[in-house]
Amino acid sequence: MKANYHTHTFRCYHAMGNEYAYIRRAIAAGIEVLGFSDHAPMLFPPEHDAYYRMKPSLLPDYVETILSLREQYRGVLKMPLGFEVEYYPDLFASFLEMIRPYPIDYLILGQHFLGNEMGGAHVMKETKEERILVDYVDQVIEGMNTGVFSCLAHPDVVFYTGDTIAFRREMRRLCRAAKECGLPLEYNLLGLSEGRNYPSPDFWPIAAEEGNAVILGWDAHRPTAFLQHEVEEKALTYLHSLGITPIETLPFRKIFP
Ligand SMILES: [Zn+2]
Ligand SMILES: [Zn+2]
Repeated sequence: MKANYHTHTFRCYHAMGNEYAYIRRAIAAGIEVLGFSDHAPMLFPPEHDAYYRMKPSLLPDYVETILSLREQYRGVLKMPLGFEVEYYPDLFASFLEMIRPYPIDYLILGQHFLGNEMGGAHVMKETKEERILVDYVDQVIEGMNTGVFSCLAHPDVVFYTGDTIAFRREMRRLCRAAKECGLPLEYNLLGLSEGRNYPSPDFWPIAAEEGNAVILGWDAHRPTAFLQHEVEEKALTYLHSLGITPIETLPFRKIFP
C-alpha cells in the first residue's frame, strides 16, 4: 500500500519508537504517504489519568516534530498530520478548541469507550450485552455526524459475542450511516496481525453489501508494522473475495470550515 494514515508515536505511552524509525520503515515498505495520527490529547479533569493518549502538554512538540520532519523528507514522503480520537460528547468541543491553533490535516474516529473513558465501558472488552453494541453504534454515528472526521478506524472494534443477528443489524446501521456521511471504513491491519476480534468476519460482508468505501490502516504502534507484507496480502485477498477494492488515498475533511 502506498499510503498509511494510522500511525502512532511514543507520546501515547503504549507505542514504541521515534518518528525516524517509523519513517525509515515506511520508506522501506514503499509507502509514499505516512500520516501520523497519535491518540489525541483531551482536556480531562486533573484527577483523571489519561494513560493511553498524549498529554495536552505534548501537543506542541508533536506538531512541531511532524512539521519539521515533513520539511526534511519533502519529495520523499508526504506526511500529513492528524489524530485518532474518540467522540466523547462532553469533551469534544474543548478538544476541537485545543487543536484549533494547529495545522491538523485530518481526524480519524476511533471509538474505544462508551460515554468517555472516565467510567464508560471499554468496547474492546468481550461482552454479550446488546446494550453495549447498540450504544457503541449510536455513539459512532453521532461522532461521524459531526462532519469533522475523514475516516472511521476499526469500525468493528466492539468485542460483542452475543446474538449474531443483533450484531449484523447494528453493523448494517453503522455501515449505512458511514456511507451517508461519505466516510471510509478502515480495515485494521493491527487487529489482523494480532488475531484480535477485529477485523470481524461478520462485519466486512455487510460493508461489501452496503458498498462502503474501505481503506487499509496499519494502526502502527511500532515501526516494523509496515514491513508485514503477508498481512497486507491476506487483507487484500480477503477484501477482493468480497468484491471490495480498498481506496488508496484518504480525502481529508475540513475540521474547521
Ligand atoms: Zn484505535
Ligand atoms: Zn490507533
